[in-house]
Order: sequence, then C-alpha cells, then structure tokens
Amino acid sequence: MVQDDILKVLVTEEEIEQRCVELAEQIEADYQKEGTVPVVVGLLKGSVPFMAELIKRFKFPCEIDFMKVSSYDGTESIGDVRIDLDMQISAKERPILLVEDIVDTGRTLVEVKKMFKNKGATDVKIVSLLDKPDRREFEIEADYVGFTVPNEFVVGYGLDYNQKYRNLPFIGVLKPEIYE
Ligand code: 5GP
Ligand code: MG
Ligand code: MG
Repeated sequence: MVQDDILKVLVTEEEIEQRCVELAEQIEADYQKEGTVPVVVGLLKGSVPFMAELIKRFKFPCEIDFMKVSSYDGTESIGDVRIDLDMQISAKERPILLVEDIVDTGRTLVEVKKMFKNKGATDVKIVSLLDKPDRREFEIEADYVGFTVPNEFVVGYGLDYNQKYRNLPFIGVLKPEIYE
C-alpha cells in the first residue's frame, strides 16, 4: 500500500475539500465583480485532483484547459521551464486563472505568467493548493493559496515523487528510506 510509505500527514482530505469550498467562493466573487469569463488552466500533472475539486464548486461561467511545463526532476530543480504540452484555447485577450499544485522556488509561475502576458492574456491570476514560502527564489505570490507548508518535500493530492503518490487523497511527507 502506498499509504505505508507516508511518515506523516500534513493536510487531510477533509481539510482540502473544505478549503476548496472557501477558495471557490473567493474566486467566484472576484470574477463576478470583474464580469469576465476566465480560462482556467491547470498545470499538468500535479494540479489535476485540486483542479477537479475546485472547479466543481464554481457557479460562474469559465472555460477549462491544461498545459504541461517542467522544471523539476526528483527533488531538485534542474533549470528553466520547458513547455511540454501547450493549451488548446487561445489565451489572447482572455483572463487566465492558473491552477498549480505548489509554489516552491517560484520559477515555474514567473515563467508561465510571463508567457501568458506574451500571448496577450488580459489578466493572469494564480490559485495554488500549496505554498512553500521558505523556498522562494523568484518574486511571485499566488492570488489564492490553499495551505502554507513547511520546507519539506511533500507528496499526494497530485504531487509526486518520481511520478508516484499523486493518487494519495491527502498531503504528506514520505519516510526517509523511500529516498534511499
Ligand atoms: P517551483 O520551484 O518552480 O515553484 O516549483 C515547480 C514544481 O516543482 C511544482 O509545481 C511542483 O510540481 C514541484 N515541487 C516543488 N516543491 C515540491 C514538493 O514539495 N513536492 C513535490 N512533489 N513537488 C514539488
Ligand atoms: Mg506543478
Ligand atoms: Mg513533480
């Protein structure tokens, strides 16, 4: 069982679900005020469970798309962001709501936000399930954050270690022997 590899749980499934209700209300209020129809863009693959939990609470009109960028291999950052899969809907003259699993160094979101501005997006907001502010190297903050986590490598609810553990329904820390 993958559950057996977990040292401790940081955020439970119930806490995530409850937080998604709150985030969806905040986000909805902001887009209703602006009167715009955003393209909600999930960054694959980590954002998938969070995006699913969040968007089913939205009662305002929006469009959904995905893109895949990569900047990480294992537990260490390996350099600039690369686009592996681009979105299908045009971002030109559209407000964008980026959905991310975690803001760590901030490199990914700085680059992706810049890219959306270059594509002619009118506005780029970010919602991230997790924020790890102790690790920040690039100046960026998500507009909406689910939970702030300590400086530890976390898995679950979309977040992987070598592509595993994304299916865990909570956020946790792996036992040290898993990395050995
Ligand atoms: P950045 O450093 O660019 O902010 O983060 C890039 C990506 O690294 C995140 O979207 C996430 O996929 C991955 N990442 C950062 N911190 C963690 C972590 O603690 N656990 C896992 N599983 N992935 C992380
Ligand atoms: Mg990610
Ligand atoms: Mg990863």
